[in-house]
Amino acid sequence: MVRQGNDTMATSTPGGHRACTQITDVYSLTRFTSVVARFRRLATTGLVAAMTAHLFFVLLFWLLDVWLLLIFNLFSVCLYGICLTLMRFPQLRAVSLILAWLEVIVHAGIATLALGAESGFHYFLLGLVPLVYIDPRGHRLTRLIGLMMLTGLFVGLDLLSTLLDPWFTLTDVTLNGLRWGNTLICFFVLGTLINVYARTSRQSERDLRNLASTDLLTSLRNRRSVTDEALMLAAERKSSGRQLAVILVDLDHFKQLNDRYGHGFGDQVLADTARLMNRTMRPGDSLARWGGEEFLILLTDADLDRAICVAERVRETLSKQTFHHDGHPLSITATLGVTEWRTDEAFEICVSRADEALYRGKQNGRDRVEVAKTDQGRWVRCGAQT
Ligand code: GH3
Ligand code: MG
Ligand code: MG
Repeated sequence: MVRQGNDTMATSTPGGHRACTQITDVYSLTRFTSVVARFRRLATTGLVAAMTAHLFFVLLFWLLDVWLLLIFNLFSVCLYGICLTLMRFPQLRAVSLILAWLEVIVHAGIATLALGAESGFHYFLLGLVPLVYIDPRGHRLTRLIGLMMLTGLFVGLDLLSTLLDPWFTLTDVTLNGLRWGNTLICFFVLGTLINVYARTSRQSERDLRNLASTDLLTSLRNRRSVTDEALMLAAERKSSGRQLAVILVDLDHFKQLNDRYGHGFGDQVLADTARLMNRTMRPGDSLARWGGEEFLILLTDADLDRAICVAERVRETLSKQTFHHDGHPLSITATLGVTEWRTDEAFEICVSRADEALYRGKQNGRDRVEVAKTDQGRWVRCGAQT
């Protein structure tokens, strides 16, 4: 029941924006854990790494006195700087990535022609292969074309360097050193890319699983999640012999509250109610939003007596809570249906029995705990001291 309140324990939300914040949090989570956002982070890290590597090559070719590659690497460092700047602007990110791609291709080509295939500079084309597949916007045909172009370039450069003399002559020892160094860098790049991609996939899977099992408004588990847990507990119970109980909680006259104070305020009350009830739970017990203004509590290692005590505690906590609407205090009540979950019955049967008890509670005046009739016809009321 919605009461214009002069109730005790005014510890409630000062009109607050909690529910809205929670919703925003969940949306932010979705946004920031999206594959696209991670792809951008990966691209930025890659650009920084590429810039650093090219600075190293500037030094190396200065020492080796290969002026063409020294100049080209200087140019590449500047280009990666431009790419990193472009990454800051969402509309220019694609341009930045295209420039980086072109840099790798042209650089691999020029370095291979300048020093020969033995220097291993065309191996860098291999680092682009995972990128062809990682880009979430990529089309299947574009990917195939990209892969074929990279393969053609790799084989073409290898072939060309066997037909043409290199522009600069280096000793065999230097060429071997360059090839091993380039191979090392390529393995590292490939390993990093695959590792990041695998981690991203695992994280996305976890996020999706969380989203699929969480109620957006209250951040509680949703109906599907608690049903899955119940099925797991039921399977495990055959060996563990744990006692289980179910409580259905339904807020009284919630439609009235919505009609009087608005749906937005109703949402806040639902979110705060969930938080309040959560505080009364033991670790191991589950609280879920069963639907609308109904919640389900799944108690483990609990006989009927304990379930009734928990239900009474929840009822009392809710009725003592004061909410504020535009500075005006008000309180709510809830009706609860309690039942033990017998070993030989399906979860749905148990829930429907709790629902029947809840319905009786509504008929008997609301703001009360009603226990489903058991075989023994037992009905134990729990005192305030528990
Ligand atoms: P009773 O005491 O018999 O349970 O009355 P009631 O008004 O609570 O029950 P009824 O089933 O008539 O109405 C449930 C109300 O709960 C209507 C619906 O607008 C409200 N409700 C369900 N889900 C939400 C929600 O997510 N947000 C808000 N603000 N209201 C909701
Ligand atoms: Mg209802
Ligand atoms: Mg209701």
